[in-house]
Amino acid sequence: MLYDESRILCGKCGADASSVIDPQSKDIVTCTGCGRQDRFDSVVKAVAGFHQEAMKQAAADAMARAFRGSKGVVFTPGRIEKMSFRWVPSRKVS
Ligand SMILES: [Zn+2]
Repeated sequence: MLYDESRILCGKCGADASSVIDPQSKDIVTCTGCGRQDRFDSVVKAVAGFHQEAMKQAAADAMARAFRGSKGVVFTPGRIEKMSFRWVPSRKVS
């Protein structure tokens, strides 16, 4: 799954986040939709967490597919809780 790294979206309303050009950790990121604000470093953390969860989910799905149809092996991937993230990366449109 590909994400457009240049765009960050609000995790609540899905609108674009806006900030200064080349933001530093103390700079404020504002949602253009609902006006939610966060420090840039918090936004980075949220997006990194999102990527991590997405990767875990992808790995679990791949494992489940690999074991599907093989006799005698039962693999039940733990359901990864879909966390709600304050900020998410924008999915790349191809
Ligand atoms: Zn918003």
